This record gives sequence, C-alpha cells and structure tokens, in this order.
Amino acid sequence: MLAYVYKDKGNFALEEKPRPVITDPKDAIVKITLASICTSDLHIKRGFVPRAVKGVTVGHEAVGIVEEVGGEIHNVKAGDRVVVNVETFCGECFFCKRGYVNNCTDKNGGWAIGCRIDGVQAQYVKVPFANTGLIKIPDNVSDEEALFVGDILATGYWAADISGMEEGDVALIIGAGPTGICTALCAALKNPSRLIICEKDEKRREFAKHICPMAEVIAPESVEEYIKQNCIRGGADVVFEVAGAENTFELAWKCARPNAVVVVVAMYDKPQILPLPDMYGKNLTFKTGGVDGCKCNEILALISQKKIDATPLITHTFSLRDIKEAYDLFESRTDGVIKVAVKP
Ligand SMILES: [Zn+2]
Ligand SMILES: [Zn+2]
Repeated sequence: MLAYVYKDKGNFALEEKPRPVITDPKDAIVKITLASICTSDLHIKRGFVPRAVKGVTVGHEAVGIVEEVGGEIHNVKAGDRVVVNVETFCGECFFCKRGYVNNCTDKNGGWAIGCRIDGVQAQYVKVPFANTGLIKIPDNVSDEEALFVGDILATGYWAADISGMEEGDVALIIGAGPTGICTALCAALKNPSRLIICEKDEKRREFAKHICPMAEVIAPESVEEYIKQNCIRGGADVVFEVAGAENTFELAWKCARPNAVVVVVAMYDKPQILPLPDMYGKNLTFKTGGVDGCKCNEILALISQKKIDATPLITHTFSLRDIKEAYDLFESRTDGVIKVAVKP
C-alpha cells in the first residue's frame, strides 16, 4: 500500500509499505477513505517533535471503514464507518480513568498514531486500543463532516470544556487557524454573550467571520484596545490562546479580566515568559496542554444534530499520490488554504 513516511528532518516521502496486520486482540485495521494534514505533521517534518520515529507513516486525522478487528474489539465491527482518534489509550490506567487520556501510561497511549506508530496518510492503518481509538460515524454524517472529529475538533471541544466557560461570558480566541476556528465553533455552543476572534491574516479574518457569524473578528494591533473598550469587566472572561506566535501568549493574559481562565492550546516553538510580577493580583488561572480526546462521541452527536459544521475548513482536496503537492500548499498558506483533505 501507499504511505507517506517521515524519513528525516525536513524530508517526507511517499513509499510502498506492506499492509498492516492485527498483532494484538485490541487492534483494528481501518481502510482510510479521507485523511488530512495537520500543523503537527509540519512540526514533525521540521524536526520539532523529538519523539517522532523515523520511518513512521505520518498523519493522525482521518476517517475510514473498519476492515478487520481483533478478538477483544466490541465497539466497532468490519464495515463500520469510523473516525480515527488522534489519541490511543488503554482506558484503564490512573489517567485514562480520570479522562486524562493524553497522558495514558501505556507505551501506545496518548498521541502515538502518525508520530511513534504508523499513521493515517496511507491506504490502511492499524489502530491499537480500537475500542477507544475508533468511533462509529452516524449515518447522517458524511466523511467530510467527521474528518476533524478525532483531532482539531476534539481539541476545540476539550478547550471549551476545560475553560469552564459559562453562558453569557465574553470569550476571546487568539488565532483563527484551523484549531482556532474549531475552538470558536465549540465555544459558540456555550452561548457566550460575545465571541471575539483575533487573527493577523486578513483572509483568515474573513473566513472566521464567514464560518462563525456570531464572532467579532479583530486584528491583533487593535485587540487590546477593543477589549478595554468593550468588556465591562476589564477583559475577557475566558481567553483561548491558539496562535502560538511571537507575542500571543502575552496578548492572551493581557486581554484576560481579573480571575479569568486562560487556556493555552497553542504549541510553541520556543519557551514563553510568565511575568508573574506584572500579573500579580490579577489572579489568573492558566490551563495548558494537549487534548484529552475522549469525547468524540459527543462531537459526532452535535454534528449529526447540525450544531457543528467544520466542513468549510476543507478548502482543497488531493489524492494520496499527490500528497507532496498537498503539503506544499498547506505549508505555503497560499490560495486561501485552511485545511487539505487527502483521498487514498
Ligand atoms: Zn493534529
Ligand atoms: Zn491509559
């Protein structure tokens, strides 16, 4: 089968690999019908993910059809249409039992697919812990609608969840890339009084306005002033930092009102400064980290009820044979690209 492989820093290649086979009763084999490219794939390509294993098939966001299941799999069966969860987890360890599946202690726990074990930018993938790693797609949800459920929608949903946002809150989202948009779509479900999105790219600002009509979309230069003038409590009640750019962490805590929650979803290339003397007395709460992707069923139900629609994020589709071109486009951020879908 064809698979897109991490060779070494700066170098991915399309190669022939043998089709995966079941080696554990908790495995399942999925025939990929639609995959996508994530910014984390670019992080691997650029060598920013030290735990990524050379020779691994990349990609961790996909939907497909179950081809075969191991003896202990009861949640899905051959022929089911499924979402592949970015995280695989045992469901039994200390962290899994508390919903902190990102820190599952199994060797295949957390983000393994497309990083430490073969991923989904291929014709087939083997999913360990398939009872938790695969989620059946409702009949009225298309592959395109379900494509982001296992990764960026899971991330947005998790971020909105841990923010503790309440109805009537003012939410600020910094960064309107794919994950920022998913965070906005999920935060909108909590009925905020205002949803403010800050984004530096004009095209992305237009896109954010289009996909999230309730949002007030602002450029970073004016966001601090805008927040000061428009938020009666001196800042946003909840801030989501999803940009990961040079000054966006600072912008995030500066735009937060006293006692606000700042959720740091972004992955940074460099360490960030937490200037405690400057923020003393503001009594902020910071929440950080990688998604605990264990609520995919809830997200699929919301999509099925037409409460979330992330399909406009798919701006381009390529065949797996042309995946290099797809990466080039995604990396270049030209032609209005937001997300690229890849069809094996
Ligand atoms: Zn990802
Ligand atoms: Zn676990």
